[in-house]
Amino acid sequence: MVRQCFLTGELIFFAEERAKRPQNFKKAPVSKTPVESCPFCPENSYMTPKEVFLTKDKKIRIIPNKYPFVSKNDLTHYGIHDVVIDTDKHDERLYEYTDSHIGEVIKAIKSRVEVLQNDKNIFYVQVFKNEGINAGASQSHSHWQIASLSVFPPKYELTKNILENYYRENGTCYFCNLKKTLKNQIIDENEYFMAYVPEDAKFPYEMYIIPKEHICNIVYFNNEMLYSMGKLIRNCVKRLCTLIDGISYNICFYNSPSPLYNKCDFDKYMHFYIQIIPRIGNIAGFEFSTGCYINSVLPEKSAELLKNVF
Ligand SMILES: [Zn+2]
Ligand SMILES: [Zn+2]
Repeated sequence: MVRQCFLTGELIFFAEERAKRPQNFKKAPVSKTPVESCPFCPENSYMTPKEVFLTKDKKIRIIPNKYPFVSKNDLTHYGIHDVVIDTDKHDERLYEYTDSHIGEVIKAIKSRVEVLQNDKNIFYVQVFKNEGINAGASQSHSHWQIASLSVFPPKYELTKNILENYYRENGTCYFCNLKKTLKNQIIDENEYFMAYVPEDAKFPYEMYIIPKEHICNIVYFNNEMLYSMGKLIRNCVKRLCTLIDGISYNICFYNSPSPLYNKCDFDKYMHFYIQIIPRIGNIAGFEFSTGCYINSVLPEKSAELLKNVF
């Protein structure tokens, strides 16, 4: 069976037989930075640039990345690369955070995004988390990254055009319409947010989280909504990590462009969304060369397992 990702046009080949291959779903080797050399532990803060954000309890710290891939000094490719250290405990995992801890993490990210979006040179802000070595994390101490760019990434441009066309043809936002049709795909929800497995999922146990209200940018969420978002992210990660112990994963936020850049009607058709991508198996030659994916678990099956994991 083949499906097409609505947001990117990429093709997904479903091959359930492959899930039975013994090398799949193996626990990733755990790479642990020792506490003594961990730049994200509070006692080693001298190893990193001075923070640009710090909570009162000093639990959450945002610092400029010591090894940024973009720079404020590069006028052609201006950018800012931050690291959000979301816990002061070396081994604490996101799914263990309390409601108020994860709520404060999302609040901290929002307040930083707000500052970055007010920089007139920034068009696009990407928030993401790499957790585990299969997801590209170079430090085992939990953290997120915020990459702010003066260009629109081509993938984002593509999705933006698809969502804009959908809006023009249907007179409504794609996600606002989609949420009415989701039934068995919903795995969890709370007052303001819902989590589901899309039927065009590219990866086994891939999840999306969307606000129930049409909101296009994280800066428009109030504190109550940010807490609600945090709790649902944590619960989804907990479901995933309960299903597959030791799994690596990525979390990506998709925001509308900076409101300063928002000269047209982005806000009508852009709906804030979060993607949680479990890293089972590798993105390999076929994916790199074709932009197509092979998913060994049907989204319907992924949803059922994630929903019933507790
Ligand atoms: Zn540490
Ligand atoms: Zn919407």
